[in-house]
Amino acid sequence: MINEESHSKNANVQRQSTMSRNHSIPVPPSLGEGSGLGFNLKLISGPCSAETEEQVMTTARQLAAFGCRIFRAGVWKPRTMPGGFEGKGEAALPWLQRVKQETGMKVATEVATPEHVRLALHYGIDILWIGARTTTNPFAMQDLADALRGHNLPVMIKNPVNPDIDLWIGAIERIHQTGISRIAAVHRGFTSYNRQMYRNIPLWQIPIELSRRMPHLPIFCDPSHIGGRRDLIAPIAQKAMDLGFDGLLIECHCCPDEAWSDAAQQITPAQLHDIITHLVVRDKHVEHEGLTPLRREIDDVDAQLMTLLSERMRICREIGQYKKQHNMTVVQTSRYNEMLDKRLAQAAERALSPDFIAKIYEIIHHESVRQQIDIINKPKRR
Ligand code: PEP
Ligand code: MN
Repeated sequence: MINEESHSKNANVQRQSTMSRNHSIPVPPSLGEGSGLGFNLKLISGPCSAETEEQVMTTARQLAAFGCRIFRAGVWKPRTMPGGFEGKGEAALPWLQRVKQETGMKVATEVATPEHVRLALHYGIDILWIGARTTTNPFAMQDLADALRGHNLPVMIKNPVNPDIDLWIGAIERIHQTGISRIAAVHRGFTSYNRQMYRNIPLWQIPIELSRRMPHLPIFCDPSHIGGRRDLIAPIAQKAMDLGFDGLLIECHCCPDEAWSDAAQQITPAQLHDIITHLVVRDKHVEHEGLTPLRREIDDVDAQLMTLLSERMRICREIGQYKKQHNMTVVQTSRYNEMLDKRLAQAAERALSPDFIAKIYEIIHHESVRQQIDIINKPKRR
C-alpha cells in the first residue's frame, strides 16, 4: 500500500523516498476482465467523443460484436484551443447508460472537475479516467480526489502532458489516498515542441520507470494519442505489448473521417479488430529459466562496465587537477569532437548504433565536466 511519508523540503530526499517506497496497487478487477478475444489483453475502446446517440450506439454495437468489454467515450472534452467541439456533456451520459444496457459493456468517461464526477456517478458510469491536462494540475487532482472519496470505482490516470514522472505518481497517490483501490495508469505520450512522427512522443522510459516504482499498478497504453495517426496505432500497440503493458486504450469510431474530434487517429471497429488479431501478446509473467546463464553474463559485463567507468572518472579527475594547476578551461571543444569521432568510428567497427554511442558519450562527458568543475573550484588548502 502507498504509505504517506513526511514530505521533506529537500528535493533529493523526496526523490529518494519516492523511489524506495514499496507501492503496491492491486489490479482493478473490472479492468482486468480480459478482452474476450481469447487471450490476456485488456482492451478499452470507443470514440474520442460521444457525438450523437446513433454514433455512440453504432460504434458500441460493432465493438461489442467482436468481444470488446469496456467502452470509452469522452463527454467533456478538454480542447487545447477554444472553439473546438467541447463534448455533449450531461446530455451524452444517458447514451452511455444505453450502451451498458444493450451491449453489457462497462462504460468509461473522462472527468476533470468534481461536477463531472458527481454526474458520472449519478448516471452509473463504471470507470473514470483523468486526462493528461488534468493530471498536470495538483489542485485539480486534489479536487477530483476529494470528490471521489467514499466511492470505489476504478480510475485510470493518464500521464501529465509534460514528462514529469513525479507529477504522474503524485496524481496516482492523491486518488489512492481517498481509498480508491482499483487504479490503472495510462501512457498517452508527452507534448513536445517539435512534433515529428508522433503527436505525443512516447518516451517509453517514463512508463517503464513508473512500472518499476509501482510494480503492481496496471499500465495501459493509448496508441491513438501517442501516434495521432491511424497508421501508427498498430506499431505502437505492438511496442506496448513487447514492453509488457497490461492493456490498450484505443479510439474507435463508426465513421472516423467524420469524427468531431481527433478524426486523424480514429479507426473503425473492424480496423481495430484486425489490429488486435495481428498483435503478438507476450507473457510477462513467465520466468524463463533458460535465461539465467545469459543474465549472469550480463551481470558480469555490467560489473566490468562499472569498474571501467569508475577508472575513467578517476583519470578525468587527474586531468582536472592538471587543468587547475595550468589554469586551463575545463571544456576543450576540439578535443571533445576529436574523441567523439574516434568513438563513433570504433562503434561502427563493432556494429554499435552511432546514436546510442553518441548518447552514452554525451552523458559520460557531462559527468566528466561536472567532476572537473568541482575540482577547479575547490578552494586551495592553506
Ligand atoms: C482522450 O482520451 O480523449 C483524451 C482527451 O486524452 P488525453 O487526456 O490523453 O489528451
Ligand atoms: Mn481523443
